[in-house]
Amino acid sequence: MRKIHIMPDTLASQVAAGEVVERPASVVKELIENSIDAGASRIQVDVERGGLALIKVADDGTGMCREDAILAVERHATSKLRKASDLSQLSTYGFRGEALPSIASVSRFRLVSCEMNALVGTEILVDGGKLKDVGDSGNPPGTQVEIRDLFFNVPARRKFLRAQATEFGHIEEVVRVAAIVRPEIAFTLRHGDREVIRLARTSRQIDRIADLVGLQVIEHLIEFDGHDADSNIHVAGWISEPGFSRRNRRLQYSFLNSRPIDSPAVGFALKDAYSGLIERGSFPAAFLFIEADPASIDVNVHPTKREVRFSDSRIVQRLVSTSVEHSITRKINRNIPSSDDLNPVMPQYSVDANGSGSSAVNVLSGAQDVIREAYEDSNIKGISSSTGDIERQLEVNFPPGKTNPHKILGLLGGRYLVIEGDVGLVLLHRRAAHERILYEEGLKAIESKGASSQSLLVPVTVSLSAQDFQVVMENSEILTKLGLRVEPFGENTIKVDALPASCSDADPAAFVTALTSELCEGGSRSAKRFSEKDLVAIISNRAARYSEAKSSDELNALVSRLMECDMPYCDARGRPTMIQFSAQELARRFGATSSK
Ligand code: ADP
Ligand code: MG
Repeated sequence: MRKIHIMPDTLASQVAAGEVVERPASVVKELIENSIDAGASRIQVDVERGGLALIKVADDGTGMCREDAILAVERHATSKLRKASDLSQLSTYGFRGEALPSIASVSRFRLVSCEMNALVGTEILVDGGKLKDVGDSGNPPGTQVEIRDLFFNVPARRKFLRAQATEFGHIEEVVRVAAIVRPEIAFTLRHGDREVIRLARTSRQIDRIADLVGLQVIEHLIEFDGHDADSNIHVAGWISEPGFSRRNRRLQYSFLNSRPIDSPAVGFALKDAYSGLIERGSFPAAFLFIEADPASIDVNVHPTKREVRFSDSRIVQRLVSTSVEHSITRKINRNIPSSDDLNPVMPQYSVDANGSGSSAVNVLSGAQDVIREAYEDSNIKGISSSTGDIERQLEVNFPPGKTNPHKILGLLGGRYLVIEGDVGLVLLHRRAAHERILYEEGLKAIESKGASSQSLLVPVTVSLSAQDFQVVMENSEILTKLGLRVEPFGENTIKVDALPASCSDADPAAFVTALTSELCEGGSRSAKRFSEKDLVAIISNRAARYSEAKSSDELNALVSRLMECDMPYCDARGRPTMIQFSAQELARRFGATSSK
């Protein structure tokens, strides 16, 4: 008996819908992409009950004639792909001709479309994949697709949907992503009677990004670009300055030829570029646009097209990380945080533009803390040069490359060096500066031969929790390279017989305990492996607490070693090492009208 039969189209569409239409947000994505492909300059999205009750996407694009509109809801009907070779030169989002029939097979579907000069438009009704009605409509040119009761005939799928607010959150994200790449299109998004997004057309991408994420974020973005001549790949965009970070990747957007992508290569590249510039476990903001020859990439990996394959992802990774690094260095070396940025009324941008308030650390609020701490420290009555054994009027070279003498005037609250430079007044954070120096020296050392270490006369044993023990062992090879020689010594116990030279003043057991608890922080159960850079940053941060510079010679040396660093202006987590008050700023604060 024959068992194989060809699936009826409706069934095939429902099966395909399983891949293309995962949730309401996928419907919105497909419909918006169709509108963009149709050359729309205005896209309006209306959603009810998280998209479960209604999704309506209306555009002012080319519209369809009646025959096309009917064809559009049939499987594999597309105006965008005619032959296999077109696949390598796609400039449209769509090409599979799957979205509309898939969506229509799992919903109550209404499409109204009208071409520019047509006398009358077309209305098509499809119910669970069955064509119900085709008629006239009097809509303005453009297309409007209405989806009601998504998954009404696929109860299993409907069960998997989350709360309406969650589903709407995904929809909003889809609209934001589309809006970022298409600033020339006006977007609105409404949920019930609440207008959530309204974006006017603009020609500049950065203006669109500003409209979406708010000026508080924009102020801290740095533009970058780069080009790889061999592969002819371009990257460009905006990334956040060191110290500005988020606890999640929600402010990271990557696009390849205008298509949003999830690319591990980009993730690695950013991690690499920001190591030593941002707190571990936090993420920079990034708006990243890659342009590559369509022939060198494959977007047809998955129906949602979010995943792409580069023919050589290492090129992309290297290009992104080097161009991001360059622009950060260029920007930071030009921009020592100045007291102009410390106006107390400056809005804190630790709150998301959409109000969700994830925590952010940044150069400037870091600087504010420094200042606030300094003044809250009750020991401080003013700038005192008698703290420590610092002499007045020491000459240092500052900033780098300049030979004018600069003077260390004093040490404020035992923490901040007060320096007179030709830029004005500089406050330098002693510990942060030390951390940066140790970090860069540590990196250089391991690149060459491994950091120098100080053997202990009497090795110490430290017993750890099972989890801490596992993390230390997991990283023991790199730790040894960094000068911390550890080996297992019985159950959950380690033996330490050398410390990094920079930590030779530390109590070995206390040092190791503090270090391991830092490695294990975050509470993750599974063992973690750290990169060399991460470990150098952690050790430098610890080590900076020992052997503090105190004498005038030491402080002088601290300043000159800092200025020899590649990135003297922030510590290994992106917090400022120094704040400057320019002469003009001081004059302005004192109410002077001229510079006298
Ligand atoms: P694809 O986008 O992969 O071609 P779809 O199922 O999404 O497949 O759409 C089928 C066809 O319907 C498209 O190729 C296009 O010609 C037409 N179409 C869909 N949406 C619109 C729209 N908003 N405006 C004009 N034409 C549209
Ligand atoms: Mg499509």
